Amino acid sequence: MRGVVLYAPGDVRVEEVADPRITAPTDAIIRLSASCVCGSDLWPFRGVDSVEQPMPMGHEYVGIVEEVGSEVKNVKPGQFVVGSFVASDGTCEICRSGYPSSCVHRVFMNEVGTQSERALIPYADGTLVATPGMPDAELIPSLLAASDVLGTGWFGAVAAQAGPGKTVAVVGDGAVGLLAVLAAKQLGAERVIAMSRHERRQKLAREFGATDIVTERGDDGVAQVKELTGGMGAHSVVEAVGTQESMQQAIRAARAGGHVGFVGVTHDVALSGEELFFAQVSLLGGPAPVRRFLPELIELIWDRKIDPGKVFDLTLPLEQAAEAYRAMDERRAVKALLRV
Ligand SMILES: [Zn+2]
Repeated sequence: MRGVVLYAPGDVRVEEVADPRITAPTDAIIRLSASCVCGSDLWPFRGVDSVEQPMPMGHEYVGIVEEVGSEVKNVKPGQFVVGSFVASDGTCEICRSGYPSSCVHRVFMNEVGTQSERALIPYADGTLVATPGMPDAELIPSLLAASDVLGTGWFGAVAAQAGPGKTVAVVGDGAVGLLAVLAAKQLGAERVIAMSRHERRQKLAREFGATDIVTERGDDGVAQVKELTGGMGAHSVVEAVGTQESMQQAIRAARAGGHVGFVGVTHDVALSGEELFFAQVSLLGGPAPVRRFLPELIELIWDRKIDPGKVFDLTLPLEQAAEAYRAMDERRAVKALLRV
């Protein structure tokens, strides 16, 4: 089958890779309908994360089940499924407590690679959720978004305790940040402040429910959020970048007693204990437990109540994956969908 492999920073190739094979009775194989490039795929593409050997790429996926192992009961061949970017058994204590992305048996799907024609899904029963039927083509981008960026933005908003009466600020205008805006709106937030300097992304943030836009960054951005909130800061802040600056911006933009949900994969972030002590905010973050939210997100998409697929502003065939990476790296695209 065809699959995307990263050989070195900037060197993305689409080539023949081994077909997946079921080895555990809990495995499933899916034929992908679509995959996509994630902001986190750009870390190794840019050489920020090292590339020691050729790496299969991709961890977001939707598709049709082709084959299941002998113990798989919840999904069957022919069904259309959405799964999380982390495979999980769904049965351990951590899964049952709502944190399947830290499952004792977790498998990060980027180790498998889903920018390919087929993919092996470990722990299929705990990982995959079947849609009510075969989706219309127009729903596929939104269902694909649920696999990671929507689920991650949603977790950021939940972790920040976005809800009725709350002012939510979102740091980061990539796909996750934009979908955190959507999530905050859906969860009933009164006011949603999107922090973005890019006109196209600001427009999308408004479509997703942002009530205010702050273009300043760093401490100037914090000052703007404070000005919009009577000097106090936001009740809830979602951090969706993962850098020192964005993390500090998020913590400083939250009011005392507020909550920060941090879902950008952190790179070289070091926080001052003293600042944290006096900030008096709650922090919750990490790889989003997307599987927890999938049934609800699929229903919202199926009923056409949300349209997270709008974050895809570039669609290319799998064979042109290298161009998809370049477009996202150069910020010409928010998010690129790969047609399989
Ligand atoms: Zn588990």
